[in-house]
Amino acid sequence: MNKIMFQNYGTQSNWVNGKYHPSYSKKTISIISPYFGKEIATIPESNFADLDFAVKNAQAAFPAWSGLNIRDRAEVMFNLKSIIENNLDEMAELIALDNGKTVADAKGSILRGKEVVEFATSLPSMLRGDSSPVGSGITCTMTQEPLGVVAGITPFNFPAMVPLWMIPLAITTGNCFILKPSEQTPLSTFKLAEYLKEAGLPDGVFNIVNGAREVVEGICDHPDIKAVAFVGSSTVAKIVYARSAANGKRAICLGGAKNHMIVVPDADQDSTAKGLLASSMGSAGQRCMAASVAVGVANIDPIIDQLVEEARNYKLGVDMGTIVSKAALDRITNYIDEAEKMGAKILIDGRNATPPEGYENGYWLGATILDHVEPDWPSATDEIFGPVLSIIRKDNLEDAMQVENGNQYGNAAAVFTTSGQVAKTISESASAGMIGINIGVPVPREPYSFGGWNESKYGHGDITGKSGVDFWTNLKKVTARWPESTEAWKKYF
Ligand code: NAD
Repeated sequence: MNKIMFQNYGTQSNWVNGKYHPSYSKKTISIISPYFGKEIATIPESNFADLDFAVKNAQAAFPAWSGLNIRDRAEVMFNLKSIIENNLDEMAELIALDNGKTVADAKGSILRGKEVVEFATSLPSMLRGDSSPVGSGITCTMTQEPLGVVAGITPFNFPAMVPLWMIPLAITTGNCFILKPSEQTPLSTFKLAEYLKEAGLPDGVFNIVNGAREVVEGICDHPDIKAVAFVGSSTVAKIVYARSAANGKRAICLGGAKNHMIVVPDADQDSTAKGLLASSMGSAGQRCMAASVAVGVANIDPIIDQLVEEARNYKLGVDMGTIVSKAALDRITNYIDEAEKMGAKILIDGRNATPPEGYENGYWLGATILDHVEPDWPSATDEIFGPVLSIIRKDNLEDAMQVENGNQYGNAAAVFTTSGQVAKTISESASAGMIGINIGVPVPREPYSFGGWNESKYGHGDITGKSGVDFWTNLKKVTARWPESTEAWKKYF
């Protein structure tokens, strides 16, 4: 495994107007590394005064930034792309330390975020506006204009990637941005701030206000914040959406998920077993695209046998990092205990997994597979957010689809099959925003946008791609008619 070095980063501040700025609040939050179970930093638990200070600085930066040509704003993204590439190791090690990912996994997540930076470099050609004659002597021109000061609130599980879904599109379109990162995994976002400055971003365009609920509520309420993007659990997504909308703000709030993979007996055994494993156990199951339920249609035992074999070889610290916190570890373990009591057959049990040497105090849980789970058990209905796969057995495709569409979420759904007809049926009938055919983690690649349906998202559109660009902009339509002839200019002809 990549060695994770313990380091204490001490007292951290907020980032406002291009520099670190101490908080007005005296309260702090302790950042614990899930590899060591020990404090690695403290961040301020900021208050409304901190948020207001950041908003005022962002407002001051807005006229000059939004007044720049979009090609100049996109230039910052070209620079940022190279800076991220050159500092991949540094950022990945920070993410591993505060989030618990493996370094390889952390690198993969940063590279996915970088795709949005790359997409943002194309905005000068995308945002050329539209113009055409609409009547005799009348022309209509439509442009996309920035909103002003906008904000993003992000979860613990992708500390750099999720902010990178928002920041490149929001600022390249001309907005100034306030980020409230997860209070569990904030360290890599300080690097993002430093990289943006190095890339040439003017001070005040990007700001970080650390903290928890008070800052989030302040973002929803602040009269000078025009739009809010949120990514996190559905419970909070719904609250943030409602509170932002009640204050007249535009909001897109991505929530939790319970993704299903439907497996039919004709599926290719090897790639399906590997696909099920990667989807359910990758990132230790702590991703909104993890599929934590496999619905087997008829007899899929050979695939399950191989899956269990592969899962036994999954090594903690190499294939899978830690769980983010002790509280999360206890919550996930409770789901396994409960499913066991209800009669699930435990094919592989991660509760007794041996931690890697040197990391015995970390929050570890090995790959866990529960078979013969019933669709209404908590392990089948709730977002467990850990390396736990529940297998539900059904006799036919229709019953399997009912299980998939019976859950309240709608981020992703996948089917493993070699039949085009089965794939077509599932992709047409699944009530989810992102569908995988023989792909367990069907994250669309830019410029295709990311976003789910149902309780996995509140608000219109998606968070990346063209939809994301639309979210961060207002449409302006100019309808112009110039008089046919006047005495004043006739003399020039
Ligand atoms: P979370 O909802 O606990 O926290 C997300 C953000 O909300 C954090 O910044 C946190 O400070 C803030 N917050 C938490 N409780 C709050 C409250 N009561 N009031 C106001 N703000 C509050 O989520 P998490 O545990 O950090 O992240 C995991 C969740 O995020 C999972 O549900 C996962 O599915 C979801 N997620 C979704 C997507 C997606 O694209 N749909 C992507 C990544 C993560």
